[in-house]
Amino acid sequence: MPTDTSKVHIGLILPDVLGTYGDSGNATVLCKRLEWRGIPAMVVPVRISEPTPASLDLYVLGGGEDDAQALAADYLREDAGIQRAAERGAVVVGVCAGLQVLGTSFTTSDGVVHRGLGLLDVTTKPGERRSVGEVVVQPDPRFGRQPLTGFENHMGASSVGPDSVPLGQVQRGTGNGDRSEGAVRGRVLATYLHGPVLARNPELADLVLGWVVGHPLPPLEVPEIELLRQERLARRRAR
Ligand code: GLN
Repeated sequence: MPTDTSKVHIGLILPDVLGTYGDSGNATVLCKRLEWRGIPAMVVPVRISEPTPASLDLYVLGGGEDDAQALAADYLREDAGIQRAAERGAVVVGVCAGLQVLGTSFTTSDGVVHRGLGLLDVTTKPGERRSVGEVVVQPDPRFGRQPLTGFENHMGASSVGPDSVPLGQVQRGTGNGDRSEGAVRGRVLATYLHGPVLARNPELADLVLGWVVGHPLPPLEVPEIELLRQERLARRRAR
């Protein structure tokens, strides 16, 4: 259990179960963006056999296959550390399977309905076909101005209910399946975008870090990230 309160503690939740497409890199990006600004931070990996400390500042969950995410949902529901942390205002970020697990329920491709953590008003069912490829999203202005870029690979299609709002609207790709993308409720934010999404979209990374530190963070100049964004935004979706 981390005790050093001078540091921002970033929980990397079940990297051994929810770790597809380098999503664990989201925790590294958050940590580095704080350190580059002189704010001490550390990543706290929490693996499947370990209890999740409810004392962390921020929690990140990545993507995974159906069986892996069902296992993760069962484990995290019982463990309840993230739910306790979210109740006191901690920030939670989920990607793809992470989005589905943070919702109220998800149905895997075998037709089994699983309960989620209920932190987002989102239900997920199998879509008509698997969605694979590059995605571009225009965020809701509350969550950013610059287009979000990412990569998706999922079967699930998600509906956002009245207790949450979509993160944005899809310009290219599938996202939730109804032209909306992702979901946000308070300080719980989730998206279908891999990338890792916070490496490709610094504005989004800084939005959630601003929630953690309690004030908006001034932008950082990192030319390589801008080059990466231009290259990804110009890329056509492979069909
Ligand atoms: N298993 C989920 C789906 O296919 C999530 C996939 C993922 O995280 N990439 O919808």
